[in-house]
Amino acid sequence: MGKAKTKKQGKNWKKFWKLGVDDFNTQFFGISKDAELTATEGYHIYNLNDLAHKYGTPLQVVFPFIIEDRLKDLIGYFQAYMKIYGYKGKFFYHYPMKVNQNKEFILPLLSEGANLEATSANELWIVKKLWEEEKFNSKIRVLCNGPKTDQYLDLIEELRGKGMNIVPILESMEEVERLSKYRGDIGVRVDLNVKTDSHWDKKFDRFGLSEKDALGLSKMKNLKIMHYHMGSQIKTQKSIFEGVRYGFGLYTELQKTHPNLDTMDIGGGFGVPYEKKKFYTAKGVSSKIIKMLKGMADKAGIKHPNLVVEWGQYVVAPAEITIYKVLYKKIIPKANAKAWYIVDGSFMNDLKDTWAIHQKYHTIPVNNMQDPLKTAWLAGSTCDSDDKYTAGGNYILLPKLKEGQDQLVAILDTGAYQDGLASHHCLLSAPMKIVAQDGTIKIVRKRENAEAIGKLFGWNGDHK
Ligand SMILES: *Cc1c(COP(=O)(O)O)cnc(C)c1O
Repeated sequence: MGKAKTKKQGKNWKKFWKLGVDDFNTQFFGISKDAELTATEGYHIYNLNDLAHKYGTPLQVVFPFIIEDRLKDLIGYFQAYMKIYGYKGKFFYHYPMKVNQNKEFILPLLSEGANLEATSANELWIVKKLWEEEKFNSKIRVLCNGPKTDQYLDLIEELRGKGMNIVPILESMEEVERLSKYRGDIGVRVDLNVKTDSHWDKKFDRFGLSEKDALGLSKMKNLKIMHYHMGSQIKTQKSIFEGVRYGFGLYTELQKTHPNLDTMDIGGGFGVPYEKKKFYTAKGVSSKIIKMLKGMADKAGIKHPNLVVEWGQYVVAPAEITIYKVLYKKIIPKANAKAWYIVDGSFMNDLKDTWAIHQKYHTIPVNNMQDPLKTAWLAGSTCDSDDKYTAGGNYILLPKLKEGQDQLVAILDTGAYQDGLASHHCLLSAPMKIVAQDGTIKIVRKRENAEAIGKLFGWNGDHK
């Protein structure tokens, strides 16, 4: 971008802030007549400026209806295209738990028909807990990825013994041996030899079996699923299709040795238009995937595979926003932005990907949305010079600060990955978390006080 200058958003604020657009996942967000950010669930309207003033900042607001809406649509697309193209396989959505393990995310997903994918013994423990509380239908299938520790394997066996549908996915040759007596269905993860345009450096992938090892496996009657995962936030749909095309070739080869293999799991990776620029769509991509699979299976003369999709951040990222208050500004002489806006939370702690992979998010004002704008860099409240957002590069446009009036800032699409990665640098408190649903607000994580955080570091009363 060019030199810093004040910009005006003109009359059409909603358009300027890219709200109300399906393709940007902002269709539920709008602006009140007082120029404040709103979220709309049916006939309920939440004013986020009011909520932030009532509950304080930093604040994370979770919208379960957005999760439900997105999953319903996604399952709907695949099922509709299977019907349209005469596809005989079945569709299964498996939610990758690592994307967000909060109860407020997982329960709505389960109620909309999600199956699960777990990565560790502790994630699988959540499944056990749900089962014990009778919140888990025994038809829900759980795929178990990741390296299998003894504790993880024991839990897999335990849950299968209770009659649950638990499918370990072979992650290494070592696991082939250890799972050889497993009595339920099994899957295998293969490290596809395909280049993907995502953040992930495929050159040094350590996940799954190599193609050669996978093809060398001896016959397994309970091998049902071939799984691959190409990386997250894949930039182009071409990469997704390339994975499907290449993966299908491997699937047909594997099926020659393992006659019961009937399911292809194409993993996660579907991107989110975080920056509100033109992006590929789930509708278009699902149509093409089914069309491709049908064509390839018919040509190869094999049954249409059942299809598993594990698109995680696509489903949950837009269901949470994070709100900070600007504490004060500091003028920056001669830079791309006019001022630092220092906020009352931390990018490094609460939105780790801003630091770790320089993830960009759509950042907008919560109030004063029609005011004259200023170019700003954002900084968090830790003492760390890395605790910043866009600083050094582009700038954010935010309202000029007004004497005696708080300025609040919302970061959209923060529902994926950030909670699991969050930390307590400088012992700052994590944001309070509230849930907005059916017109009511519930506090689901209180604001941490000093005592709660101190405990995490051993300051729990006995200081010898
Ligand atoms: C991380 C992961 C996913 C989810 O990836 P997204 O980019 O969030 O869609 C799915 N499957 C596996 C095996 C993963 O490791």
